[in-house]
Amino acid sequence: MSTKIRNGRPHRPGQPPRGRPSRPHTGRPDPGRSSLSAPAPRKREPVVIELPQTVTVKELAELLNVGTGQVIKELITRGLMLTVNQSVDFATAADVAAAFNVQVTPKPVDASEGVIAAEIEEEENLRPRPPVVTILGHVDHGKTSLLDAIRQTNVTAQEAGGITQHIGAYQVEIKGQKITFLDTPGHEAFTAMRARGAQVTDIAVLVVAADDGVQPQTLEAISHARAANVPLIVAINKIDKPEANPDRVKQQLAEAGVVVHDWGGDVEAVEVSARRKTGIEDLLETILLVAELQGLKANPNRPATGTVIEARLDKTRGPVATVLVQNGTLHVGDFIAAGPVYGKVRAMFNDRGKRLKAAEPSTPVEVLGLSDVPRAGDKVHVAPSEQAAKLFAQQYAQQMAQEAQVQARPTTLEEMFKQDGQVKELNIILKADVQGSIEPIRLSLERLSGDEVKVKVIHQGIGNVTESDVLLAQASRGIIVGFNVRVEPGARRAAEMANVDIRLYNIIYDAVDDIRKAMAGMLEPRFVEIQEGRAEVRKLFGRNGEVAGCVVLDGKIVRNTLARVMRNGQLVGEGQIESLRRFKDDVREVAAGYECGLMLAGGPKLEVGDIINTFRKERVAGDVPL
Ligand code: GDP
Repeated sequence: MSTKIRNGRPHRPGQPPRGRPSRPHTGRPDPGRSSLSAPAPRKREPVVIELPQTVTVKELAELLNVGTGQVIKELITRGLMLTVNQSVDFATAADVAAAFNVQVTPKPVDASEGVIAAEIEEEENLRPRPPVVTILGHVDHGKTSLLDAIRQTNVTAQEAGGITQHIGAYQVEIKGQKITFLDTPGHEAFTAMRARGAQVTDIAVLVVAADDGVQPQTLEAISHARAANVPLIVAINKIDKPEANPDRVKQQLAEAGVVVHDWGGDVEAVEVSARRKTGIEDLLETILLVAELQGLKANPNRPATGTVIEARLDKTRGPVATVLVQNGTLHVGDFIAAGPVYGKVRAMFNDRGKRLKAAEPSTPVEVLGLSDVPRAGDKVHVAPSEQAAKLFAQQYAQQMAQEAQVQARPTTLEEMFKQDGQVKELNIILKADVQGSIEPIRLSLERLSGDEVKVKVIHQGIGNVTESDVLLAQASRGIIVGFNVRVEPGARRAAEMANVDIRLYNIIYDAVDDIRKAMAGMLEPRFVEIQEGRAEVRKLFGRNGEVAGCVVLDGKIVRNTLARVMRNGQLVGEGQIESLRRFKDDVREVAAGYECGLMLAGGPKLEVGDIINTFRKERVAGDVPL
């Protein structure tokens, strides 16, 4: 019936339909002429427009070339009371468009627009870029002092005298070359970024206090850096102290597998005193040396990509995000998407408070002009238009929401091996009560390695399972094996949120046997959650707003199933679908595209805009061959 017409005045993706002469709005729907056609096609054929996944009422009216009042009226007839700036989803927009005799197709994200420009770069376009460094080490060994000492001693020449701003990262210059330091030290912050998919560090400086030697968190830091495949430089700190014993530190490091040059290894070690500010230049030169070996490069002549290092809401300046530019150059005036938020770069400042017009690769900059506050670890992309930036941010938000609700990553032992040979390496974080049991368990576990699967203990330590262990497991897609230890409460919560498998044992044989069975796909079947439906809350009814009027977006909503509630992309709680109605009738299920009224038992108080994801439990068979 319908003819696909790319209208005489097509919208280029990403461009709002500004400047298009619009017909005077009569306030009355005029299906024949309200399409994009101007003049109207002779035969009143339906036209086809491209629609993004969500669109505001105002944008929809513009796309349909009708008044916002007309769109609002159409929405009211569908039970939706929305203002011009509120959004409707694709299905609703399509339905409204149909009333104006306009058909819609989903708008693809056009990679050629540069929104998700290919990351592959031609060698000839690449230029050396400064290394990005993180400082790791045991508590009180001097990480913060060292960051301060570096910052005070080496300021880029032209910016000396600028006022130090804490923006989450800073740059120093030595012998005309720059180095970027992330100034949130510690392996938790480092791995938390990695767990969010952001790898920003090129080199890790491991601080070890010369008077205290290698400590549990030193070992953790080593494992975290190794798991990330980031080279280490050792800074032996506090050498000003009379009891300092750098040789003992080197020996302990060698025992932990970090062999420094003096000991015949290839790890650089530098003796420093953060307090007296000695050895700092030596450390910086060593960083440059290691960076040179890495051959760090980027293409400054392309639209920027980067990562949010930190972000906050400033009372006077609005959302402020520190972005580490990783490739390309970020300019004032660029449209950007930073994770789920977007905006136009209104102004940029460096760590000395200096206003910048452009920021090259490895430069950390404070960015003003975003619509909201993004999170550390969110990816930043430059887009060709505001529309494109918004679209990209929306898609990111949707993706995040989906990843948060569905068990996107196979992180339980059984699931890992149900992925038909996808797992080539089983990463294990091993915690035990005494040193004596660690080695035998590690050896027994690693001996399970076969041709198809390698078992690798990426970190071993004494003591309870901590949040840091969970982070490492999450970032490395590993599991945690505990022997005669407990799980700290914070770690338990973190593991549940991140879906990290923690297995506790008292008998070595049981631990080894369990993992062997899992590798052979022989473990007892378990129940897994399968996502079944997704609904959006559009309106609240009842005396206390306890009945949610929803539209089912995908799948189906079934009574008595588990429901997780997402608000602005974040999980806010879970409950059970207690009652489900269509109009006045109790129903067992409601399919996509339909409206329903539902009540949650045991869940959070629902709000308009909440997304409800429902899950059913399904038994998984335990016999998938490796
Ligand atoms: P962090 O927990 O690793 O960040 O350690 P801090 O930087 O907070 O330092 C812990 C303590 O060690 C502080 O009291 C510092 O003053 C002290 N400290 C740091 N570096 C040195 C150093 O080079 N020499 C001496 N004597 N003390 C230091």
